[in-house]
Amino acid sequence: MALARCEKCGRPTGLRNEYIRRAPAVGYPDTGLLCGRPTCINPAIVWLTVAESNLYRNGHRLFALSTRAKEVRLQDGGECVDDNSFMRPR
Ligand SMILES: [Zn+2]
Repeated sequence: MALARCEKCGRPTGLRNEYIRRAPAVGYPDTGLLCGRPTCINPAIVWLTVAESNLYRNGHRLFALSTRAKEVRLQDGGECVDDNSFMRPR
């Protein structure tokens, strides 16, 4: 499964997977995708396994990330649609 790592943290070394290709997320380096290292908050590049790299080569561009990289930075200007009506039964 793809991993997110910043320039500084570099290529992930895993026991189960070898990461052989790096590709920037859309918008990189101004991206909400953060490095998957627990204490790191730098913008991340996505690293792909051998199988994912083959998919990428064939035009695949949407990849699931390892669960450690679930944090995302959002833009200002988020819109409140309707106070908390979605919490109430209708
Ligand atoms: Zn990092």
